[in-house]
Formats: sequence, structure tokens, C-alpha cells
Amino acid sequence: MAEKVDVAIVGGGIMGASTAYWLSLFEPRLRICVFERDPTHEFSSTALSVASIRQQFTAAINVRISGFGLEFIRNFSSLTAELGGVDLGFRGNGYLFLAGSETGAENLREAVDMQRGEGAGTEALTAEQLCRLFPWISAEGVSLASFGGSAEGWFDNMGLLAGLRDLARLQGVRFEHAEVVGVDRAGRVIGSLSLSDGRRVSVGEVVNAAGPRASLFMRKLSEEFPVEPRKRTVFVVDAPNARHPDAPLLIDYQGYYARPEGTCWITATVPENDTAVDCEDFDARHWDFEENIWPKLYRRIPGFDQAKVIRHWVGHYAFNTLDQNAILGRHPNWDNLLLINGFSGHGLQQAPAMGRGLAELLVHGHFRSLDLSEFSMERILENRPFRERGIV
Ligand SMILES: Cc1cc2nc3c(=O)[nH]c(=O)nc-3n(C[C@H](O)[C@H](O)[C@H](O)COP(=O)(O)OP(=O)(O)OC[C@H]3O[C@@H](n4cnc5c(N)ncnc54)[C@H](O)[C@@H]3O)c2cc1C
Repeated sequence: MAEKVDVAIVGGGIMGASTAYWLSLFEPRLRICVFERDPTHEFSSTALSVASIRQQFTAAINVRISGFGLEFIRNFSSLTAELGGVDLGFRGNGYLFLAGSETGAENLREAVDMQRGEGAGTEALTAEQLCRLFPWISAEGVSLASFGGSAEGWFDNMGLLAGLRDLARLQGVRFEHAEVVGVDRAGRVIGSLSLSDGRRVSVGEVVNAAGPRASLFMRKLSEEFPVEPRKRTVFVVDAPNARHPDAPLLIDYQGYYARPEGTCWITATVPENDTAVDCEDFDARHWDFEENIWPKLYRRIPGFDQAKVIRHWVGHYAFNTLDQNAILGRHPNWDNLLLINGFSGHGLQQAPAMGRGLAELLVHGHFRSLDLSEFSMERILENRPFRERGIV
């Protein structure tokens, strides 16, 4: 007879771990099992993330989600006291957005007002104020900037994953090394999952937390799903004349981002011809730094006159092709399928709030802390994009 779990979570990255943590906190009696095909997480988005958090979104709900993320990250050491206290090493250097046109400046001003209304400390900076605050930055072409200060920065991604997983384990969740390779269904119900080790597990509820592989799982249910792996090459660069460990994460209208990592910098861009890639394709776009990032970076930070790429890595966004935002909640075509997918480039910081929201939905039948209904699968089926202009 097939083994039975109340909730099967497909994927043990940050979304699977967060969902498991909150679910087991809210309802300790649930038998919850997380299935992970590669517990080393070597190729997961979570491990390959740039691991930064900002309040500077243009949709109010995204500001609230990150606000909770920040609180969670800052309190993580006391939340994990039972594990000895996991310090995520949060560095609150802030994000610095640069606009390069009048429209860009207007949009930035509007976003700053909204963020401040939500309690974020974002400030708009004129070109002169920008130069005064960061004298090593050139304000050439900048119409307005916005700076988020110490409520934004970066943290230890794998510490967050390991901490959530270990807390969930303490609360009774099982984490198993197995790939979900098949699905048995009857009408609108998923009855059981087949695993790569030959087992079959009968399931109460199923959560798709498969990251960039989310659509592969949905195909087993003959469902089209607008989430695809998109490649991002991240470069670690040493620029001896631009060593600024206290610098913010810079998001330049010229189309790249850069932040310090120790005395070096991390930088990436959205590649030209940004299309879906194979889940196994991690070949770097080596030319991107020299051709598409360096000239712009040097124009912005003259200290980049000398720069050496000392390392790079490639990760996949789980890219939501409709609006690059999360898909969260029940799938309307299925009685026992929940989604936590499509986070594109801002999922890590959203994981605490999104995992909590999905767990609330599962346990209580509705969202309690934050209303996350804007991220529903229904909007996808109705082709109603969620509006967020601050996509990186
Ligand atoms: C280069 C890069 C930079 C980023 N920078 C940031 C940032 O600065 N800030 C931020 O907030 N976010 C950032 N992100 C996004 C963020 O990292 C992701 O949104 C988040 O990690 C997604 O987590 P996940 O659990 O959905 O996916 P993953 O971490 O990929 O986890 C999914 C897991 O599911 C497993 N799996 C898949 N299919 C199956 C199956 N059939 N059976 C069993 N297991 C399965 C996979 O092995 C994987 O471990 C970045 C992402 C990348 C790639």
C-alpha cells in the first residue's frame, strides 16, 4: 500500500522550506513531506541567488512582503535559538535606483511616496545630493535617484534555507531525497506522486515549489504554466580603484545592477535575447561583462577604469512570462494543488511572507497576515498582469 502524507511539497528550495516551516508551525499534526531531487541545492535558484532585499518596489503589496522579510531576517537569530541562533549576516547598505529620464524620475518619485506611505525610509535624491552622498559615483545622465538606506541590503541565502529547513524538521517535517517523477490523478484530484526511487506516496495536498522546474511538474498534469528557466550570469569583479564595501546595491537605468561583496563587486545584467533555457544549461555568457556591463559601469563609477572578473556563476530565474511576479495560491483547475512559483529575481526576500501566506491558505482557508490574493493563478488564466515596475 502507498505511504500517505497530508501535504507533499515538491522542491526543497527556499519556497518549499518556508512553506514547510509555517505549515508545521500552524498545524503540527499535519504529516508534511518535502521531496527534493538534489539536497546539495547546487543548481537551485536559492543557492545561486544574489540574496538581496529591498523595500523599493512599485506595488504596495511587494513593499509589505519585503517589510516582513526584513523583520524575519533581522530576527532570525532569535527565531532559531533552538538551533543555536543562525545569524544571517544582514548588511544594510541600501539600494540605490537611478532614473535617466523625466518619466523615469516621475515614476521614481511616485514610488518613493508610496514606499514612504508603507513605512519604508526611501528618499529621493537629486543629482547633486547623489554626488554628495556617494562622491565616487558619476551623476551623468541621472534625472533622479532613490536610496533605501539600512532597511535594504543582502544576507546569507543558504543560512536562511538551512535554518528554515532545520526548524521545520524540529516541528516534525520530513525532508526526503527523491525526485517527483509522476502524478496519478482522478478528475480534479491528485491521488499520489511517484518518486525516482520507485515509491509511490498518496497525498492530501500537493505544493508545487519546484522553482525553475515548476512547468515540468505542471506538464505531468497536462497544464500549461507560464514559468520558464531564464539564465543570469553573475560576475564577481575586482576593481582596485573602486573598493567601496559600504556601497549600496546600484540599479542603473542603463540596464545592469552591481553591489559590493567584501572589497569586490557582484554585477549582472538582463541578457539580450532573454529566452527560456534548458534546465541543465548553466553555460556562462562570458562576454556580457566586457560588452554589456563594463562600459556602463565605468561611465557610472570611474574607479572601474581597471576591472578584473575573478569569478562568475550562472543561475536560473523561475521567470513568470506574464508579469515576472509570484504565482501563489490554489490552482483553480485542481482540488488539492497549491502553487508557490514564478518569483523571477525577487523570490528569496519574499520567501518568509509567501511561505506564511500559503500555509495560512492551506490551514485556515484564507490569507490572514497579508492579503496575497493579487498573486492568484486566476490572474494568469485571465491574462491580467500584476503591475510592478521595479523588476530587476
Ligand atoms: C542569479 C540570481 C540572482 C537572484 N537574486 C535575488 C536577490 O537578490 N533577491 C531575491 O529576493 N531573489 C533573488 N533571486 C531569486 C531567488 O533566488 C528565487 O526566487 C528563489 O530562490 C526561488 O526559490 P525556489 O524555492 O522557488 O526555487 P529553487 O531554489 O530553485 O528550489 C526549487 C527546488 O525544487 C527542486 N525540484 C524541482 N523539481 C523537482 C521534482 N520534480 N522533485 C523534487 N524536487 C524538485 C529543485 O531541485 C530545487 O532545489 C535571484 C535568482 C538568481 C538565479
